[in-house]
Amino acid sequence: MEPAAGPANCRREPVCEPTLSQSINQGVTGKPTLVEELLAANSAYSCDFELVDLPARPARRLAIVTCMDARILPDQMLGLACGDAHVLRNAGGRVTDDTLRSLIVSTHLLGVRHIVVVHHTDCGMAATDQATLGEVVKRATGSVPDLDFATIEDPDAALAADVDKIRRCPFLPAGTSVSGHVYRVHDGSLICRLPPVSPAPEPVSSSSLSARSTDQERA
Ligand code: ZN
Repeated sequence: MEPAAGPANCRREPVCEPTLSQSINQGVTGKPTLVEELLAANSAYSCDFELVDLPARPARRLAIVTCMDARILPDQMLGLACGDAHVLRNAGGRVTDDTLRSLIVSTHLLGVRHIVVVHHTDCGMAATDQATLGEVVKRATGSVPDLDFATIEDPDAALAADVDKIRRCPFLPAGTSVSGHVYRVHDGSLICRLPPVSPAPEPVSSSSLSARSTDQERA
C-alpha cells in the first residue's frame, strides 16, 4: 500500500509509512481502512497547515473539562480557535486525579486561569453504574478492573461535586475561576449551572491529591 497522497498542489510529502496491520486490513476488505482514511485526511490538512507559530500557552487562558461524547465539539460549541484552550476529556467529564494533574500543569506552567466544567444531557455515564459496567467488563474479559468508573447517579450532584473538587484543590493558584455547565446535546445550548467564582481555594485534607510531607520532600 502506498502512503496516502495529498492534493496535487501539496507542498509536503506524506510522512507516515503503512503499518503491517494496515496492509493486512486492506488486503481483507479491499477498501481503505479507517487509519488510511485518517492519514489521507491528515495529508490534506497538513498541506495547508498555518499554525506553525502557534504558542503552546492557551490564548484565552482557559481549560475545559468535558465528556468524551462524540456529539460534543468544544471548539465549535464555545467559539474557540485552535490555541485558545486546553480541553480535557474523559467518560462523563469527571474530575479525576488525572484531571487535577493536568489542571495543575495548565495553571502553573501554561497560564490558565479559567476552568470550565461541561457535563451534558444524555450522558452514557448516567445510563449505567459501577456494578453494571463492571459486569460488562467481566463478561468480556473475565475480570473486573480495580477502578472507579465515576458513573453518574445524580447529574446535578455530579456536576457540583466535580466543580467543588477543582475549587478545593489546594494545588491550583488562588483566584482561579471555576464554573459548571450542562451542554444539551439535542439543541446545542449550554446552560450555566454553577457560575464562576474565584475564592482562594480552601485546602482540604480529604483531597486524594495529597501534599507530600516535609519529611517526604527531604527524603
Ligand atoms: Zn457523556
